[in-house]
Amino acid sequence: MAAAGCLPHERIGIKWNAAQRFESFGGDASGPWQGMQAWRGDFDGLLLDRALEAGAELLQPCQALRPLTDGENVVGVETDRGPVRAGWMSDAGGGRHWLARQLALQIEHHSPPLIARYGYVHGREPELSNASSIEGDELGWTWKAQVKEDLVAWCRMDLRGRSGVAAWRPASLRNFPAYGPTRGADVSWRIVSRPVASGYFMAGDAAAVLDPASSHGVLRALMTGMMSAHLIAAEAGGKAGRNEAADYYCEWLHQWFDHDVSELRELYAALPHPPDWLAEPRRLYGAKKKGKGPTHENRSLRPPGNWREDFEDNGVKG
Ligand SMILES: Cc1cc2nc3c(=O)[nH]c(=O)nc-3n(C[C@H](O)[C@H](O)[C@H](O)COP(=O)(O)OP(=O)(O)OC[C@H]3O[C@@H](n4cnc5c(N)ncnc54)[C@H](O)[C@@H]3O)c2cc1C
Repeated sequence: MAAAGCLPHERIGIKWNAAQRFESFGGDASGPWQGMQAWRGDFDGLLLDRALEAGAELLQPCQALRPLTDGENVVGVETDRGPVRAGWMSDAGGGRHWLARQLALQIEHHSPPLIARYGYVHGREPELSNASSIEGDELGWTWKAQVKEDLVAWCRMDLRGRSGVAAWRPASLRNFPAYGPTRGADVSWRIVSRPVASGYFMAGDAAAVLDPASSHGVLRALMTGMMSAHLIAAEAGGKAGRNEAADYYCEWLHQWFDHDVSELRELYAALPHPPDWLAEPRRLYGAKKKGKGPTHENRSLRPPGNWREDFEDNGVKG
């Protein structure tokens, strides 16, 4: 990633409810770990190249129009370049939840509506040269990082749900020229109740979204892609039944999501002025029952097949 121009960071400056402190990212026998600022287009390019090397066929541009179904089963996808039939189809189309909406599946909201505002400015911020920064305040938090040699990214979350002033920018970046407009993204905490069933998987934000403070969005996108591929291979190789693979994925993802929701609630409870909604017990928000309901339940997790072996065979260390 460094060769592709992604900027490494050694630590993050955190000012939450006390004076600023610096945290590193941990490490192992081979040395300290680094944080990495990946530019979306560069990172997408790296992943696409890797997929092509591994034998994937790429249709680009190509828009998914609707799933192809046979009764309850998804059997492929209709695209603007024609139908693509498949034993399994994976939706990695992001937080608009394309497939969940097409199939009218239930999406559970675990927070009130939350909008992240973000943007970029030209320039170099010396205090960000080796560390990104996050700072909590009475309304939410602001994150900043040097993401390219001459570009600083910022992100602002107002936890009271106000969308903020369109022209807002962190005070330290107000004199830098803007690179593009300020944008907004719906980062309300949510998960598709059943992100897998007969013939389909949902991966990344298509399956579950948390706000950027959880820092797991890209990791979850990668890991859900890997896990769904592993389970599809396990089923094809006779190591797992179709339902077993689906149940495992559903439970694994819900447990990860629940864990991250608890961590975010703890993080925000430690702000000088936590938002009022955090004082309520954890609950679902919005429409109570919309779409086909949850079918997952708590079970002990044991992945079908030897996923660690499969990944390590492919050079991925867990
Ligand atoms: C402001 C902000 C800051 C963030 N910061 C971090 C961070 O620091 N660390 C972190 O880990 N995560 C962060 N995240 C979260 C992270 O960006 C996402 O979790 C991650 O990008 C999800 O990847 P994805 O591949 O699932 O979805 P996306 O990155 O949204 O990609 C989905 C792709 O599918 C395409 N698509 C959609 N519908 C169709 C269709 N019908 N047909 C064809 N293509 C389609 C879209 O065009 C898009 O290219 C941040 C998010 C925001 C909003």
